[in-house]
Amino acid sequence: MGYEEILEHLAPCGLDCRKCLASSSGEIRELSVRIRELLGSFDRYAERFSAFQPVFRGYPQFRDLLSHLAGADCPGCRGGACRYPGCIVPACTRDKEVDFCFQCSEFPCDRVTFDPDLRHRWEEMNSRMGEIGVEAYFQETRDLPRYR
Ligand code: SF4
Ligand code: SF4
Repeated sequence: MGYEEILEHLAPCGLDCRKCLASSSGEIRELSVRIRELLGSFDRYAERFSAFQPVFRGYPQFRDLLSHLAGADCPGCRGGACRYPGCIVPACTRDKEVDFCFQCSEFPCDRVTFDPDLRHRWEEMNSRMGEIGVEAYFQETRDLPRYR
């Protein structure tokens, strides 16, 4: 995959929007829609099954969560604003005229408002992209889950 196409996946912070559970074009949404279709009217069955398999008592909560995932509607970081509250990275990278934070002379800056885990991940992703390049980084991480 070429650089321009990779930009449709990787946000300026380095996270892969297509792997995000909020993404309207991601696999999590796509598979959730499919599971919801396959389960059809399972509600009635879940109630009956719960008499001998107690785990099915949690089916209504599972169905609600599945509907939430199936309704994911974020167009991705480069297509709008991230759902992460108060993230400055999209606007800041635009101002700095870079595609990713590692391309900015101030990286790693103290402006980001990430929690400590995400900040660590942001530094790690961008340092790695700086080391091996965006295309190689995308290949290296393409089969890894987003949430790790
Ligand atoms: S912009 Fe943020 S919330 Fe939207 S898909 Fe990308 S990472 Fe997920
Ligand atoms: S100042 Fe910080 S947040 Fe803004 S582009 Fe540079 S590294 Fe990213």
